[in-house]
Amino acid sequence: MSTHRITQAIRIRAGQTPEMEHTTPLFLTSSFCYEDAEEMRAVFADEKEGNIYSRFSNPTVQEFTDRLAALEGTETGFATASGMSAIVASFLSFLKKGDHLLACNAIFGSTHTVITKYLPKYGIEYSYVSTDTSTWEAAIRPNTRMIFLETPTNPGLDIVDLAAAGAIARKHNLLFNVDNCFATPIGQTPIDYGADLIIHSATKWIDGQGRVLGGAVLGRKDLIKEVYLFCRSTGPSLSPFNAWILSRSLETLDVRMERHSANALYLAQALEDHPAIASLRYPFHPAHPQYDIARRQMKNGGGIVCFELKGGLEAGRKFLDNLKMLSLTANLGDTRSIASHPASTTHAKLTPEERAAVGISPGLIRISVGLEHRDDILADIRQAL
Ligand SMILES: *Cc1c(COP(=O)(O)O)cnc(C)c1O
Repeated sequence: MSTHRITQAIRIRAGQTPEMEHTTPLFLTSSFCYEDAEEMRAVFADEKEGNIYSRFSNPTVQEFTDRLAALEGTETGFATASGMSAIVASFLSFLKKGDHLLACNAIFGSTHTVITKYLPKYGIEYSYVSTDTSTWEAAIRPNTRMIFLETPTNPGLDIVDLAAAGAIARKHNLLFNVDNCFATPIGQTPIDYGADLIIHSATKWIDGQGRVLGGAVLGRKDLIKEVYLFCRSTGPSLSPFNAWILSRSLETLDVRMERHSANALYLAQALEDHPAIASLRYPFHPAHPQYDIARRQMKNGGGIVCFELKGGLEAGRKFLDNLKMLSLTANLGDTRSIASHPASTTHAKLTPEERAAVGISPGLIRISVGLEHRDDILADIRQAL
């Protein structure tokens, strides 16, 4: 049955057991059994399809992966214990000593740490480029093997032109690796721009309720085979329990993202002229510097709004202290609205220069807009300002 992607995200399911349950059971098992020695031999020899051990595969994990791959429009995927393990697996499955990684500089804090602190330990070189793709070709070297980017970026909400980045990757025969966490497959599908690997932190919008960690690498079968072989040996596989939660969450991702985005746009419009705010960013707000690119490659503006407070670092801390309803927490992509101040928390390890280079000013506030009534979210932010 060929149906729309959102229908597949709801209807794809692990096989039904003789109990004829409606909702997929949770296959909370470390390993799987065989009828006889011959069957066991054949499964281990890859002659027969079958599960062996949940570090390799598990029906609940597979259901989650198949649903997410359907949403992204990729052939397949491999689910991991967290977004970071997906990113590390995507690097270490394809990069080797002497290779060079071209990475956009506005990326998640832990990804920055992996690239700058750990990859060089294994002889993998890197260069950072800005979010302006016109500067990228000059940074490509003979040993460049992969381009990595995030869009919209965290937390600055820059938009990277996926069509331009994809064209550069194709021209130079580079693997094109996109962290699609912020947009989700509801907001944009990087495969349309030639992405070879698509990364998710399922911990964020995909879970959507701040419960479990998870991640995934998605792409063509030949590439995901490499990720699978790497993960099956090294062990960052997703827990079936978390997969069960995340798979149920995919059934509501489309409707949730529609409301998150609508609430976020409402806040952006209501707050843009506030006297305590120096500037405000939302991808689908016309004042966004890359508004045209956002409209071209995204289906909605997503659930994050950023603004810069007049008064810098102290104003940022005071704003957080004044909030009554919004949560102060490290996560994003929750039913509950969350406020964060990157300069004093998630990006505090960067130098002020590094922060400035990726658009994190001292007074930057990031709001992950939840599903509460939009006027309650707005009222709390207004009183805190
Ligand atoms: C949170 C996040 C990650 C890391 O995901 P975890 O599930 O926390 O490991 C990677 N990329 C982006 C853009 C994120 O927001």
